[in-house]
Amino acid sequence: NKIILLKHRPSGKPTLEDFKFSEEEKPTPKDGEILLKTLYVSVDPYLRGRMRDEESYIPPFKLDQPLESSIIAEVIESKNSNFKKGEFVSGLLKWKEYQTAAGNGLNKVNKEAAPLTAYLGVLGLTGITAYLGLKKIGDLKGGETLLVSGAAGAVGSVVGQIGKIMGCNLVGIAGSDEKIERIKEKFGFDDGINYKTANDMKKAIGAACPKGVDVYFDNVGGEILDAAMANINKFGRVINCGAISLYNEEKKPVGPRHEGTLIKKSVLMQGFTIMDYVKDFGPAINQLSTWLKDGKLTYSETIVEGFENIPQAFLDLFEGKNKGKMIVKV
Ligand code: NDP
Repeated sequence: NKIILLKHRPSGKPTLEDFKFSEEEKPTPKDGEILLKTLYVSVDPYLRGRMRDEESYIPPFKLDQPLESSIIAEVIESKNSNFKKGEFVSGLLKWKEYQTAAGNGLNKVNKEAAPLTAYLGVLGLTGITAYLGLKKIGDLKGGETLLVSGAAGAVGSVVGQIGKIMGCNLVGIAGSDEKIERIKEKFGFDDGINYKTANDMKKAIGAACPKGVDVYFDNVGGEILDAAMANINKFGRVINCGAISLYNEEKKPVGPRHEGTLIKKSVLMQGFTIMDYVKDFGPAINQLSTWLKDGKLTYSETIVEGFENIPQAFLDLFEGKNKGKMIVKV
């Protein structure tokens, strides 16, 4: 049974050296347990935070212990009356080919209702993050300008489409011309900015958002956030969802630098972690599923093959190699 452990806590950008492959005996379920076969593994930017030994909203990974993330698995043996052999579940599971579980914290997923991988993306935590981040903090109204960074990614592409459903002017920021073309064609963005080639992000955002930015959904933080704040409107809302541009920085950025703008423009800026809203997951998934069935929502995914490629797929998130949700098929 192959497993992947955390070998070192990375300094700066993680590398393959930070992970260790190992093998253990395939486990056998005890009474009350199920045996799970890993099918699809979600790799996510937030896992970088769990590699640091510091207090957060979720405990850090331990050295020489298996990493974990959201996984879709098949029940291949059951000694728990709540699960049957052949059922599929999603949940926070270890990076192991096979593992046993007691069943708490696992959700059954229906292969007939949507492809299994959708439960890691558009109907999973990233889709829910997009929907609830916008709903709880964005207070978005039709006709407003919504700016989204990480716009071609798992969260950003869903944020954009919800903005379109709500009748907003939509501008996305992403890291290649190809991604900008795709967010316009596939996800309905009105305009897009390639942050890797734009000379001056403040001016580029100003040109793409002639009426200013009413709501900024921030997935990247750092200098792109500064440029967005320079274009924010009076009573604007800023949703601090993620800051991937800073996740590999060893030095913490110095002091918040937006107080002036927040005060002068009466801007609301709020962070969240999706686990703040667990009780709202059910209605969020229902709404996302309905939009998906009605053809109002679509999604992209990059599916990498092979258990041994899980660490590389994770590293590739920081290079923007994914188009939509990054998933490893085991
Ligand atoms: P994505 O699918 O968006 O993948 C990450 C993307 O980030 C890459 O494709 C890349 O796209 C972009 N990126 C990488 N490095 C940089 C950089 N230095 N500057 C700007 N962009 C960069 O991942 P997710 O949709 O899963 O996550 C998006 C964000 O949302 C992350 O910050 C994540 O931590 C956060 N998040 C927060 C949650 C919460 O509860 N608050 C829950 C889930 C996610 P490109 O080619 O455009 O550079």
